[in-house]
Amino acid sequence: MKEIKLFINGEFRTSAKSFHSENPANGEAVAKVYLPSEQDIDQAIDAAENAFYSAEWRGMDQNKRADILEKISEKLKERRNELVELEVADSGSSLRKAKADVANAASYFKVLAGQLRKFQFEVKDENASRAGFSHNYRIYEPVGVCAQIIPWNFPLVMAAWKIGPVIASGSTSVLKTAEDTPVTASILAEILNDAGLPKGVVNIITGGASEGEYLLANKKVKKVAFTGSTAVGRKIMQNAGQRIQNLSLELGGKSANIVLDDADLSIAVDGALYAFLYHAGQACDSGTRLFVEEKIYPEFKEALVKRIKDVKVGLPTDPATAYGPVVNKKQLDTIMGYIETSKKEGAKLLAGGSRMTDGDFSKGYYIQPTLFEVTPDHTIFNEEIFGPVLAITPVKNEAEAVKLANQSIYGLAGAVWSKNQQRAINVAKQLETGMVWINEYHLLNPGMPFGGYKQSGIGREMGEEGMKAYLEVKHLWVSDCDERAKKPWFDAIF
Ligand code: NAD
Repeated sequence: MKEIKLFINGEFRTSAKSFHSENPANGEAVAKVYLPSEQDIDQAIDAAENAFYSAEWRGMDQNKRADILEKISEKLKERRNELVELEVADSGSSLRKAKADVANAASYFKVLAGQLRKFQFEVKDENASRAGFSHNYRIYEPVGVCAQIIPWNFPLVMAAWKIGPVIASGSTSVLKTAEDTPVTASILAEILNDAGLPKGVVNIITGGASEGEYLLANKKVKKVAFTGSTAVGRKIMQNAGQRIQNLSLELGGKSANIVLDDADLSIAVDGALYAFLYHAGQACDSGTRLFVEEKIYPEFKEALVKRIKDVKVGLPTDPATAYGPVVNKKQLDTIMGYIETSKKEGAKLLAGGSRMTDGDFSKGYYIQPTLFEVTPDHTIFNEEIFGPVLAITPVKNEAEAVKLANQSIYGLAGAVWSKNQQRAINVAKQLETGMVWINEYHLLNPGMPFGGYKQSGIGREMGEEGMKAYLEVKHLWVSDCDERAKKPWFDAIF
């Protein structure tokens, strides 16, 4: 069986404590995974700190760092089949999703390399030249040792989004993967070595809340970057507040998908399904609240209920599967709990609503694609479920759609469906959310920022914003000594 070891200072090592990660499709063990002790975590941070101050890393030219990013991208593509197979087994991703994840991670490193080559780490201020002999510069500098924590839903992609800007900025990090899905990040660790990343720049461990808390408490950590639930993010922000720490948060969502009355139903119906069912709804940007204008609501609802029967829930290894199991028993229970609550609250069940246990499904955590017609006072209108459950609400008009869409503590993503592009853009601009698709869903561009408004987070990943999140900016003021001596002005205060 595969062994997932701690990756510290460029070396793979075992530890005293281990567990078996489970395949959510059948309960079989995927790998033996080593958990870090507190001493291991301290050593990982020390390795990151030593690497940060090493002459090799500090002195490495940005083009050389870009070369490393490009090599990582190439090697991800070379090891694509192995990564896909392991991601499917470890996380329950469908084959399609796992293939897309590897491609997205590879393309992210490649695009980031291009951005890094062009990025100006020193920018002269052309506007202000005080007394003609002073010059001002913006100097972008790496933030230092980072502690990074990722969730289980997109294990490889989340690791890529965290590690990429660390390398691009010249920072260093200890990344903690989620205990449920530690496998593919370990392959990425092998790739980092193969790509020539200096030892200790990126260290990878796994573990749960206690390992995460211990990692974040280390005083050498200059920046915390967390992706996960809003509840845990809130706690992390409180702790970071005590130390006024640099913080990036990518948190939960309850994204609105708005179908205007002039939408093309031939794409909007499938779009609505894809928006909430991708990876069994375990995507932070899932479109889990659907608003449809009254004029087309009956027709749209009928088409949706009919079309949902074609969604193929299946074994993740089957190429025809749309989505497979949810990640673990705890997640299954949470989702089924929300379904029960919705039934009790009187939300109208339009489709699904049950766990699937026939045949092959008996060994895993499968849930039917589920549709509820709801009003804003229903629990599932407001709370993130992270499962294949959609809350549908008819709306009178665009204004009501925007009002209800913005009636959420979250603001991560959303979409508008309309044949009238300008009308859709007008609606999109009114949404308080970090990403809006028009006549699309779930597509990401690695050159563009991703992240949330409101309680969906602070900061952005990807795009130039994603790299800048790992840079401090210094204002450097330089006065010519001889010229300065001719014009003393300190005497004004004596
Ligand atoms: P989670 O918050 O339970 O856990 C996320 C990570 O934090 C895991 O690695 C976990 O071990 C660790 N952790 C848990 N408690 C901790 C603590 N007290 N201190 C430090 N680390 C701790 O979230 P999850 O269930 O793994 O993931 C699902 C959540 O992630 C959803 O809310 C989803 O919306 C969110 N998410 C957001 C984005 C985004 O980009 N905004 C992307 C993916 C997932």
